[in-house]
Amino acid sequence: MSSLAYISTRGTAMRLGFEDVLLAGLARDGGLYVPEAWPRLTQDEIASFAGLPFPEVAVSIIDRFTGGSISRDDLGRMAREAYATFGHAAVTPLVQLDQDTFVLELFHGPTLAFKDVAMQLLARLMDHVLEKRGQHVTIVGATSGDTGGAAIEAFRGSKRCDVVILFPDGRVSDVQRRMMTTPTEDNVHAIAIDGTFDDCQALVKAMFNDHAFRDCVHLAGVNSINWARIVAQVTYYFVAATALGAPHRSIAFSVPTGNFGDIFAGDVARRMGLPIADLVIASNENDILPRTVETGIYEMRDVVATSSPSMDIQISSNFERYLFEASGRDDGFVRGVMGSLAQSRRFEVGAEVAQRLRGDFSAGAVSEKQVAETIRKVKAESAYVMDPHTACGYAAAATARRDGHGTPRVILSTAHPAKFPDALEQITGERPPLPARLGNLMSDPERFERLPNDLAAVEAFVETRARAVREAS
Ligand SMILES: *Cc1c(COP(=O)(O)O)cnc(C)c1O
Repeated sequence: MSSLAYISTRGTAMRLGFEDVLLAGLARDGGLYVPEAWPRLTQDEIASFAGLPFPEVAVSIIDRFTGGSISRDDLGRMAREAYATFGHAAVTPLVQLDQDTFVLELFHGPTLAFKDVAMQLLARLMDHVLEKRGQHVTIVGATSGDTGGAAIEAFRGSKRCDVVILFPDGRVSDVQRRMMTTPTEDNVHAIAIDGTFDDCQALVKAMFNDHAFRDCVHLAGVNSINWARIVAQVTYYFVAATALGAPHRSIAFSVPTGNFGDIFAGDVARRMGLPIADLVIASNENDILPRTVETGIYEMRDVVATSSPSMDIQISSNFERYLFEASGRDDGFVRGVMGSLAQSRRFEVGAEVAQRLRGDFSAGAVSEKQVAETIRKVKAESAYVMDPHTACGYAAAATARRDGHGTPRVILSTAHPAKFPDALEQITGERPPLPARLGNLMSDPERFERLPNDLAAVEAFVETRARAVREAS
């Protein structure tokens, strides 16, 4: 058994193994966990992925990160189960739009967004580790839309995890709400909070900061900084690239980016040896990352609401992992810039890191007008309907490209157009229908709790539902 430890980007938290990192989420020093060393694959190993079933590639990738703590047999069983929930035999199929442009459809999971790819596996990994330890945990999260549904779908029926998701009452779409409120298993709970998404997030943060409560219910998180979610996303970069001829030629990817988790998985694939010609950070009008690539200054501004709400962010949490790498793993540098961000909402990355950043990524910010034009153009030229997040990826790739003639470029499609029917209807005049397998979503009975924006009320609800309370010391 090889051992692989994880270290924090801020340098003072304890080194942990894969299973502890999986359950911990954020490190105790406020940093994010990364492996002590990046595993490398040989060209032959990469070539051998071509044509393999998705779960088999997933096992080969994830196995490099577990330090032997989970057997390949167990990983294989979990991966096959996780990806059997997808509505396409290829799990993440590639669709060709023109000579060298492809769409990688990551939205065939149960909630029609790419978060299912990681969340379905994460739920099974957590159950597996908790089963070994004889423990339960309570997962609490806030959602503005996609993450809550993906978490509830993935964890419904979990033997070891109870899930409570807070969403702002009346402020998520019908489809998004129903994905959280129609599952019938009694270990998953959706709570409509009388407040905004920020209120929901503040409640979750307050629960994590209430240490007595946190220990009592064994609180755990599954947000995008969870390392296991990143690892699970590395798989589709290898699957898509080898299908298009890697490692014998290199491939460019354009990634609709919010919290920087998905594109960081692409950076990890590159560190593992996958030849990637370009990684394009695609943003909407919330352009903090493209500005940083251009100027070397990371500066928060107010969030603008767009038709691609999952990218409406002012902080990209996983960017911290990249900064750690680009600074030569300098945890003092990371502590410094994160301190400056907390204090003055900005920091400068410095000349050296700025140069690395420009070498590693292209970036493009896409306006709402461009999103609409892109969706119409691709529909007219290729009879292909893409959602607004994917359209940002397409438009950013077109302006940012530096990958040379004939390099295949892959646009990651992070959501099914039917998940954003109002935006699509406005742009194309047609409402995209839900896939048949979600046929009952709009008529199934809903079940959810309504609670005031009040910490004590929410904590009381969680305590009565958490199985972990009965085993707490
Ligand atoms: C979460 C999400 C994104 C952003 O992904 P990050 O990993 O946070 O960068 C993009 N598109 C959709 C549809 C999403 O749900």
